[in-house]
Amino acid sequence: MRLMPTLATALALLATSAVAQSPALTPDQTRFRAIYKELVETNTQFSNGDCTLAANRMAAHLRSAGFPAADVTVWVPDGHPKEGAVTAILRGTDAAAKPILLLGHLDVVEARREDWTRDPYTLIEENGVFYGRGTVDMKAMDAVWVDTFIRLREGRVPLKRTLKLALTCGEEGGAVGELRSLNGATWMVQNHPETLTAEFGLTEGGGGALRADGTNQFALLQVGEKGVANFTLEVTNPGGHSSRPVPDNAIYRLAGALKKIEAYRFPLKFNATTRGLLAARATENDPAGLALKRLLANPKDAAAERAASADPSINNRLRTTCIATLLSGGHAANALPQRANATINCRVFPGETLAEVTQALTRVIGDPQVKITPAETTIRTAINPPLSDFIVEPATRLARKYFPGAVFTPTLMAGATDARAFGPLQMPIYGPPGLFTNAESGLHGLNEHIPVKSVMTGRDYLYELVQEYANQPPHS
Ligand SMILES: [Zn+2]
Repeated sequence: MRLMPTLATALALLATSAVAQSPALTPDQTRFRAIYKELVETNTQFSNGDCTLAANRMAAHLRSAGFPAADVTVWVPDGHPKEGAVTAILRGTDAAAKPILLLGHLDVVEARREDWTRDPYTLIEENGVFYGRGTVDMKAMDAVWVDTFIRLREGRVPLKRTLKLALTCGEEGGAVGELRSLNGATWMVQNHPETLTAEFGLTEGGGGALRADGTNQFALLQVGEKGVANFTLEVTNPGGHSSRPVPDNAIYRLAGALKKIEAYRFPLKFNATTRGLLAARATENDPAGLALKRLLANPKDAAAERAASADPSINNRLRTTCIATLLSGGHAANALPQRANATINCRVFPGETLAEVTQALTRVIGDPQVKITPAETTIRTAINPPLSDFIVEPATRLARKYFPGAVFTPTLMAGATDARAFGPLQMPIYGPPGLFTNAESGLHGLNEHIPVKSVMTGRDYLYELVQEYANQPPHS
């Protein structure tokens, strides 16, 4: 099913012919492309990949560009030989201005060769499109960060602020048998926070949206993300022989609770980021966009709320969502179930607490025999970064220059990034615009791809944006 729209998109791109042939690359673009290719072709999936190898390869590029050995470090956490990270530092001239962190993850979601049209671990360029696992998530930005460090150092570009680079492993998670991946960003925050501390960080989560015809739609600045909270629902019962049914059945009781969660909508919530995002979305004149426009004008318009919420990418920015993701129950085909349980995965609106979500689930289910247990004691979440003008203004201005026609908008990440790891440091992490993809980019799925032009233009944009940020005087 995923292949159909991808094929349609590819045909549409071919039809426009504008991207059918990539222009010849300049020498610095050629070198950047080689770094990107090497990263994509270094398998870093958890089951059989090696982030440490990727980290060493990126460290080698930095060292050969003249970074002193002491300024480039490869970290390998104890007991995780293949989950290494690389960090580097480029010193600024103004000791009073705080550093900026360029953050990325080296690992990728598992890709199976037999499911893909092309080898996921070969960077294949076809009709102006790069294909390969990690081409989008997030080796394009990783390569841009390494390339930015190299160009700034080689060009002796003067910067007020110190730049820090950290490419870690384990953002995507992953497990093989009992072995679970380590979140490298969390490990670094816990063990070597000074390597990462900065006024703010830049990572994935923003980017940009292309329309199906390849034109620019939105330039996205990610400002904040939802928190993740998992709950177990469990019903236990004395059970008995299935030939003698009793009304109280653990599976039916659990199913009743799940149906209530299915029917429940968490209340509408807005913050500065989602107001900006939804206002931009409301300019599209499709049914969901029109409903959203009515809802923003009158948040009490229940019909508009229903219609706008029918679009999953709008609904998940309007509220906390909780859905059932795992289910098990019973122990024998001929026995009344003694136990039934389900996992509920909640994506929590910024600022909402675990206690509030737990209370909402308890109230909605309304059945004391359904035991509700949160998987963790708190929601591990990113801090809600301020929509500061010193972040937004350069990003907007440069977006007008590089991405004509794109509507600039802040966005709330409905998923999660390594920004979560920085909650304990109270460090804001933003996802700058730059790398534009279409809706069917195959992110986390099959045949991941991104237009060559998106990568090259995004690289130029981010290079200039990082310089602007790094030359800002101290804030307050
Ligand atoms: Zn990612």
